[in-house]
Amino acid sequence: MAENNLNGQQVYLLPEGASRLLGRDAQRTNIAVAVAVASAVRTTLGPKGMDKMMVSDLGDVIITNDGATILQEMNVEHPVAKIMVNIAKTQDKEVGDGTTSVVILAGELLKGAGDLLEQGIHPTTIIKGYKMAARKASDVLGDYARKVGVDDESTLEKIAMVSMGSKNVGDDSTKLELGKMVIRAVKQVMEKDASGKTVIDHDFIKVEKKAGGSVADTQFINGVLIDKEVTHPGMPRSAANARIALLDVALEIEKTETDARIEITSPEQMQAFLQQEEHTLKEMAEKIKKSGANVVFTQKGIDDVAQHFLAKQGVMAVRRVKKSDMEKLSRATNAKVVTSLDDLSPSDLGNAGLVEERKISGEQMVFVEKCKNPKSVTIFVRGSTEQVVDEVERSVTDVIGAISSVVADGKYVIGGGSVEIDAANRLRSYSGDVGGREQLAIQRFADALEAIPKTLSDSAGMDAIDTLVQLRNKHKAKGGDVYGVDIFGNAVGNMEKAGVFEPLKVKTQAIYSASEAAEIILRIDDIISSKGKGSGAGGAGGGMPPGGMGGMGESD
Ligand code: ADP
Ligand code: MG
Repeated sequence: MAENNLNGQQVYLLPEGASRLLGRDAQRTNIAVAVAVASAVRTTLGPKGMDKMMVSDLGDVIITNDGATILQEMNVEHPVAKIMVNIAKTQDKEVGDGTTSVVILAGELLKGAGDLLEQGIHPTTIIKGYKMAARKASDVLGDYARKVGVDDESTLEKIAMVSMGSKNVGDDSTKLELGKMVIRAVKQVMEKDASGKTVIDHDFIKVEKKAGGSVADTQFINGVLIDKEVTHPGMPRSAANARIALLDVALEIEKTETDARIEITSPEQMQAFLQQEEHTLKEMAEKIKKSGANVVFTQKGIDDVAQHFLAKQGVMAVRRVKKSDMEKLSRATNAKVVTSLDDLSPSDLGNAGLVEERKISGEQMVFVEKCKNPKSVTIFVRGSTEQVVDEVERSVTDVIGAISSVVADGKYVIGGGSVEIDAANRLRSYSGDVGGREQLAIQRFADALEAIPKTLSDSAGMDAIDTLVQLRNKHKAKGGDVYGVDIFGNAVGNMEKAGVFEPLKVKTQAIYSASEAAEIILRIDDIISSKGKGSGAGGAGGGMPPGGMGGMGESD
C-alpha cells in the first residue's frame, strides 16, 4: 500500500509486509486501545474496587489494586497502550497516588474526543479545548482546595486512610497505624531547602519487607534496617550507643596485578609474606578500633582474617552494604562515608542508640535504630505471605506519596468524586464563556472528570445516572460544595463529614497527565507498522518505532 507515484514511476516507501493506518482509521484504533486500557483498571477504583490477580510467564502471582502495578504487569504491546501505562507510572513517580484515576481520566478524554471527531471536529480544535479545560480545571481545584499544616495530624490521618482505602491490607485500626507511621516518617525526613520550601525525599523513607508475622507487626524504625548479617560469628550481635564507621574501603589485601608477580623461593619467604599480609589486615582493624568505632558498615568486602581481628577488638561489622543503604545510614546516624582508612577520624563516626542483628523469619537483619533525629527512617513491612507484604508495601508507598505531596504543598481537596463534580460544573459554565467549537471539547472534559464519581457509584452498586444528576444539583454553580459518593452508605453524601480527603497535587497531576496523554494520542494520524507482516497495524503487536511516542510529561 505505501506507494507514491513520481513522474509515472512507482516509489515504495515501506518494506513489503508493512501495514499502515491513516487518518480517521488511525485515530479510531488508538482511541479504542486507550479506552480498552482504561476499562481494564476501572473496576479497581475506590474502597469498593476489586483486586486483580496477575500471573506472570514464570507463574509469579501478584494480587493488587494498584493501577500502575496492574498496567505494568499486563506487559502491553501496543504503543498507545504503552502511553497509558506511562501516565500511570508518571503519576506514581510524581505524586505516588491516583494512578487508577489518571488512566480512567485519559480513557474518558479520548472517548469524548472520539465522539467529537465523528462529528467532524478537527483534532487540533479538540486539543486546544482540552488544554484550556485542563488549565481551568487546575485553577478551579486550587480555589477549591483547603490548607493543611504539618501538625494537623487528624487531617493527615484521614488523607492516609483514604489513600489506603481501596487496598486490602488489613482492618481500619491496622491501616491507621500504618498511616501514622508514614506521617511520622515524612515529618522526620522533611527538610527546608534554601528558599524555605519544604522538600521530602522519598528515598530516605526506606520500605523494607519480609514475609512472616502479620501486617499488624509492621514497625517504624527510627533509623535504617539493613538486609544483611553481621559477618563473623565472633562479633557482638548488639551494640548499645553505637559509634558507627561507614567505609567505602575493602578490608582486604589488594590482589597483585598479574604482571607484578612475587617470586617466593623458600618456606621462610612464604611465611614472611603471609605475616606481612596478616599484619596489614590487623592494622586495618586497629585503625578502626582507634577511631572509636564499635560498628562498621562497608560497601566493599572484609577478608576473613580482618573479620577475625575486628571480632577480637569487639567490633561488629557488616560488609557489601548497598551504596543506597550507605547513604541512608549516613543520613540516619550522621556518619561520613570514608574512602580511606587513614582518613578515618572520630569526627567521621555516627551514632545510633542501638545496632542489633535479629533473626526475622529465619534470616538475619541488622537494625540500626534509636537514632537521634535521623534524616532517614524505615518502615518495616510484615504480613503473612509474599503477596500480602507486596501489597502492603505498595500501599505504604502510595501513602508516602500522598502524605509527602500534601505536606510539601499544604493543600488538600474533598474526594469521593466531590472535587471532580465541582470542577465539572465550573468547566461547563466556563465553556459557555469560551464559545466556538472549543467549548464542545471543554464540555467533554467536564464529562470525563465525572467518570470518577460515576465509577465510584458503579462500584457501590448505585445507579450512576441518578447519582450524577443528584450530585450536579447539589453542587452550586459558584463551587466549593462537598457532596460526593458515600460508598459505604450507598448514597450521595457529605464527603467532608465522611473525612474523604485527598492531596490537591494528586488531582492536578492527574488532570495534566491525562490531558497530555490525550493530546499526544490525538495528534497521531498515521500508524506505520513494519513488524508482524500481515497483522493490521491495530493488532496487539502493531509495532511502532520504539520510543516513537514517548516523551510523556512534555508538551509543546
Ligand atoms: P487511585 O489509584 O486513582 O488512587 P483508588 O483505588 O485509590 O485509585 O481510588 C481513589 C478514589 O476513591 C478517589 O476518587 C477517592 O476520592 C475515592 N475514595 C476513597 N475512599 C473513599 C470513601 N471512603 N468514600 C468515597 N470515595 C472514596
Ligand atoms: Mg489511591
